[in-house]
Amino acid sequence: MDQRRGYDLCVVGAGSAGYAAATTARSLGRSVIIAESRAPLGGLCILRGCMPSKTLLSSAEVAHVVDRAGEYGIIAGPARVDFPALMARKRRIITEFADYRVDGIETFPLVRGDVKFAGPQTLTVDGEDIGAARFVIATGSITNIPAIPGLVAAGYVTSDEVLEFDRLPESVVVLGGGPIACELAQYLRRLGCRVTMLQRSRTLLSREDGDIGATLRNALESEGVHVVTGTALQSAEVTKSGKRIWYEADGRRESAEGGEIFVALGRRPNTDDLGLDVAKVEYESGGIKVDAHLRTSNPLIYAAGDVVFDSTQLVHVAVNEGQTAARNALADEGLTIDYDTYGARAVFTDPQVAVAGLTEAECTRRGIAFVSASFPFDDLGKAIAIGATKGFIKMLAAPDGTILGVGIIGPEASDLIHEAIALLHFKANVRDVMEMPHLHPTLAEIFTYPAETLCERLEHERHVLVRP
Ligand SMILES: Cc1cc2nc3c(=O)[nH]c(=O)nc-3n(C[C@H](O)[C@H](O)[C@H](O)COP(=O)(O)OP(=O)(O)OC[C@H]3O[C@@H](n4cnc5c(N)ncnc54)[C@H](O)[C@@H]3O)c2cc1C
Repeated sequence: MDQRRGYDLCVVGAGSAGYAAATTARSLGRSVIIAESRAPLGGLCILRGCMPSKTLLSSAEVAHVVDRAGEYGIIAGPARVDFPALMARKRRIITEFADYRVDGIETFPLVRGDVKFAGPQTLTVDGEDIGAARFVIATGSITNIPAIPGLVAAGYVTSDEVLEFDRLPESVVVLGGGPIACELAQYLRRLGCRVTMLQRSRTLLSREDGDIGATLRNALESEGVHVVTGTALQSAEVTKSGKRIWYEADGRRESAEGGEIFVALGRRPNTDDLGLDVAKVEYESGGIKVDAHLRTSNPLIYAAGDVVFDSTQLVHVAVNEGQTAARNALADEGLTIDYDTYGARAVFTDPQVAVAGLTEAECTRRGIAFVSASFPFDDLGKAIAIGATKGFIKMLAAPDGTILGVGIIGPEASDLIHEAIALLHFKANVRDVMEMPHLHPTLAEIFTYPAETLCERLEHERHVLVRP
């Protein structure tokens, strides 16, 4: 028998979700084969996403700290950027991550080429059939390029190219104001680039409550990023000195010019050319439709990661979905994911942004009663001591004191948010936060302040704080 036939599971795509699905299948003692395109192996996170971006952001942060050294009584700076060395560091680190992951992927049977479904239970790679009892589609996402007249002719870059620049442009116009746009805009600015951001919504990070986006805007503007919100992009053109984007804002036609146009308007699920119609897998431009068990409209086929309809596009979610899809596909475990907890997210700007559980907007949308309290980092001893006072924490609780959500914009928010994730996971009450020790002086102490306010307020209003 052809060795490629008769697998328990075939995973399509070996990124974070696909690799997690494959390793889970193997841990269940089942046979698994991976079908991949001809693109470099390793997945978005390692090759062109989280890891290269965070590696570069860390270089920009060092430059920023050196520039601020005088504030701490240290003579250094101004920082000078050795861009080739900065990129060489990123390449070295990413090569190590990628090599390690490729070694892991290559422990599985792997077929590479033009991957397509030829029927509801048959996948072909370069025309050759791969028979498997179940499939997990994990083909990720691709950059969303809007149809702006003149954009293609003018030329543009995406995050892929920004992470690979071989020289730093003097100026960049960033289209978008989501996490990737904000992170890379600050990175470019801190290395000395002039940056203009054009955001369609009224605030940056429009998925989060407006106070977070407004605080981040202030922080970016204080470093010299020019932020324009409420824009409608109209057209692009080449000028003598660079590229120009025309847009409308507050009823006026305006333009922004830069050496490069960086399109950071999100990513769309990668469903192209997979033969999903012949596989009887329902999908639309928002991605592959799945039920709560990540099963598609074809009961033999599951989907995980960025390719899923309306996905959160986060690595920890992709990994969990890959594991969950494999378990459900192979062992029929009927597992589901609590996206309210799992949808916790971070943006690695400075100050960082991190949110766990529900936002105020989401509570309002769902009709959930809540009270909220916030506390600024510029009143917190540790933040003052380390000179990182921008931002605040906001805690949301139900009238019985159960914590519903936490939003943080401030130093180390991406790590601090794990206390919130634990509180939400254990369905904790604001009084629990008061009873837990918080060491002094730490950034984590900031949790106690909104919790105290909420305790006092809810007790004053004679609500009974439930015990978990
Ligand atoms: C600049 C940037 C920064 C980011 N930063 C963060 C961050 O800090 N934190 C975070 O949580 N997330 C971050 N993300 C998002 C994160 O990288 C993705 O959510 C995650 O990597 C998605 O994993 P995936 O397995 O769904 O897709 P991918 O990792 O993209 O894997 C898809 C795989 O499918 C393969 N494939 C594609 N088409 C086919 C085909 N037709 N046939 C077979 N195989 C195919 C690809 O080659 C790839 O190996 C970032 C993204 C970007 C772009």
